[in-house]
Amino acid sequence: IKEYGGNDYRHFKHEVDDSGADSLTMETALRQALNEEQFHLVFQPQIDLASERVVGFETLLRWQHPELGMVPPDTFIPLAEDTGLIIPIGEWVLRTACHLARDLKAQSIAVNLSARQFHQRDLVSLVAGILEETGMPAQTLELEITESALMFDMEAAVITMSRLGKLGVRISLDDFGTGYSSLSYLQRFPIDTIKIDKSFVSGMQTDAGSSAIVNAMIAMSHSLGLQVIAEGVETEAQRDSLRERGCDQAQGYLFSRPLPFEQVVNGPDART
Ligand code: C2E
Ligand code: CA
Ligand code: CA
Ligand code: CA
Repeated sequence: IKEYGGNDYRHFKHEVDDSGADSLTMETALRQALNEEQFHLVFQPQIDLASERVVGFETLLRWQHPELGMVPPDTFIPLAEDTGLIIPIGEWVLRTACHLARDLKAQSIAVNLSARQFHQRDLVSLVAGILEETGMPAQTLELEITESALMFDMEAAVITMSRLGKLGVRISLDDFGTGYSSLSYLQRFPIDTIKIDKSFVSGMQTDAGSSAIVNAMIAMSHSLGLQVIAEGVETEAQRDSLRERGCDQAQGYLFSRPLPFEQVVNGPDART
């Protein structure tokens, strides 16, 4: 929280927590953010551990509020979910990511979907329409969803995922291991990639439990034919250990922070 401009942010949070018009204030602010182009996307490189090459990017949403500065997504995404504004915001994210994808020249662009977005009725046609409109190859798009989004309604989730799969879109399971899902559910869902949550990566070298869980996730994913990506990789020791354990890909501050579009396209010296 510190890094997001201290007092301003605390003031905002206070306002949101205590005032009677809380959710209304927030809803108005989020609506304004969408209409006044206060959102932008940043892109975090995903690295193939064997070759150390960038194979894709995860798209992350940023809200630059004119007075409050950068508002972290962990704060406003849940509120956007509650107010339903995640639907138009999520559509903006998807469309913008697909528009920018061509210039990013990556094999894979991952976009986060919240539970409510994933279960919106016309998700598949929305995705299909955006792919057509932007000319982005479906194979380039990866949608990241969390376990809780799947557990909410498993039958519906399987149908939606299969339809997305038929389009050619890939699906990854985000924050894997932090939710409730049993490992046996995994084979029921048409998933392409498992993302090992950063809590396991950071615990891996000091905590025997985390270490065992990481090994189990990699072994199980590979035996089901899934790719594995580790998130939140911050040290060379973590990178080396993950490579030795057979993890396919990694992302994290060790390789790069999430970058503005201009820096991905024009290199690190580009002005933003
Ligand atoms: P997430 O999908 O699990 O994204 C990973 C978060 O970890 C990102 O935080 C990223 O900046 C951060 N991160 C990356 N590498 C490292 C590292 O080495 N160490 C540490 N400590 N952190 C690292 P961010 O961008 O603040 O996003 C937070 C969450 O907000 C995301 O978690 C995701 O759940 C949500 N979010 C972000 N953008 C979107 C979006 O466009 N749509 C939806 N629905 N949710 C989003
Ligand atoms: Ca994610
Ligand atoms: Ca994650
Ligand atoms: Ca997370």
